[in-house]
Amino acid sequence: TGSVCADVRRPCRFLVLINPQSGKGQAQALFNNHVQRMLQEADITYTLQITERQNHARELVREADLSQWDAVVIMSGDGLLFEVVNGLMEREDWEKAIQTPLGILPGGSGNALAASMHYYSGAQPVWGEELLVSCGFMLCKGLVSHLDLVSVCMGSSQRLFSFLSLAWGFVADVDIESEKYRHVGAARFTMGTLVRLASLRVYKGKLAYLPAEEPQPPQSHVRSTSNDFNSSSVNSHLSRTLNCQNNLLHNSCNSNNAHKPNWTSESPGTTQGPPDTLLVPLDQPVPAHWTVVKEEDFVLVMAVYQSHLAEDLIAAPASRLDDGVMHLIYVKAGISRQALLCLFLAMEKGAHLSTNCPFVVYVKVRALRLEPYSPKGTITVDGEAVEYGPVQAQIHGSLARIIAG
Ligand code: ADP
Ligand code: MG
Repeated sequence: TGSVCADVRRPCRFLVLINPQSGKGQAQALFNNHVQRMLQEADITYTLQITERQNHARELVREADLSQWDAVVIMSGDGLLFEVVNGLMEREDWEKAIQTPLGILPGGSGNALAASMHYYSGAQPVWGEELLVSCGFMLCKGLVSHLDLVSVCMGSSQRLFSFLSLAWGFVADVDIESEKYRHVGAARFTMGTLVRLASLRVYKGKLAYLPAEEPQPPQSHVRSTSNDFNSSSVNSHLSRTLNCQNNLLHNSCNSNNAHKPNWTSESPGTTQGPPDTLLVPLDQPVPAHWTVVKEEDFVLVMAVYQSHLAEDLIAAPASRLDDGVMHLIYVKAGISRQALLCLFLAMEKGAHLSTNCPFVVYVKVRALRLEPYSPKGTITVDGEAVEYGPVQAQIHGSLARIIAG
């Protein structure tokens, strides 16, 4: 057959970016073994680029002539896509550049977007190489969907664009502390969760948000018959890993504060892009119609805009690629270790929001502000550590595009 794409709308020329350090360090071999032939059979041509260092991909897409490709595909974890999204938004022609269809192949240890897209397709859950094959098929089919982005503004007036999550407290600490377990693949979050549970602490700060809808009826009392909190019935990744808990608890003793954030002046963020019409400067009080959370003691605060937080953690089961909202989930201080563990076990099935846990709050928002009180700590955006301090964010519906099968 000819090498011309049968369907002119289907992206056929890919730039494929591979992070050789992601996951267990096998991204390139996984691509060769599982994806290469599939793309060839679908008449897709591609340029392969192995990244050489952090921010390489970001610089590359910032400078590249994008007209050479129909899509930019990332074979890595969520971190490399975060680089690409921000590289595109740092361009003078950001408005056009961010319309470049993106693609994701799970090659890292944190493959939340890939897992989310597989979940949206309605297929049975799969992990690891089967998830990779599923995402490979999506690329071959080439259906392009809209993807929401979130603009995240820091105290230094740095601005970043995010497609997945903003986290502080327990989840952010696990994100970063678990990077040293990257060699175990997706199980790193399970291990990180268990370690963090042992040194569970309270995070103090102020949280405010702009609700997406008029005040909603309480979420957690709708289905009170749920039995999902019964951890003994969960035959899960997390529960399978419980038997190494003692070991991990022991090892965690000297791991506090081991992490140094990796954001640097090389990551300038962007001052351009769409205006944040919902936000006022961080040194001014939030607008009067925002909701200010009365509690100031938290165990975790996270805003997620896709369903999955990791391959086997469904943080916001109701989320969709371009639903135009952030799903804000926070856990108030006072929750016991046991209840928090149950919460994460239930999250493997996305059942944590339909339990009656009085410490968990879930609300859909369009914008939020978080002001941590402690001078040191960790905030993550899409799983990557960013500048720590006051932060605010707003959704920009359908700003990007992604090949979603
Ligand atoms: P994982 O899911 O395993 O964490 P990521 O895609 O999130 O994989 O990548 C992890 C980190 O590696 C990210 O911060 C990314 O920017 C960085 N990175 C990208 N390419 C390289 C490289 N060639 N060497 C080292 N780090 C890299
Ligand atoms: Mg990562």
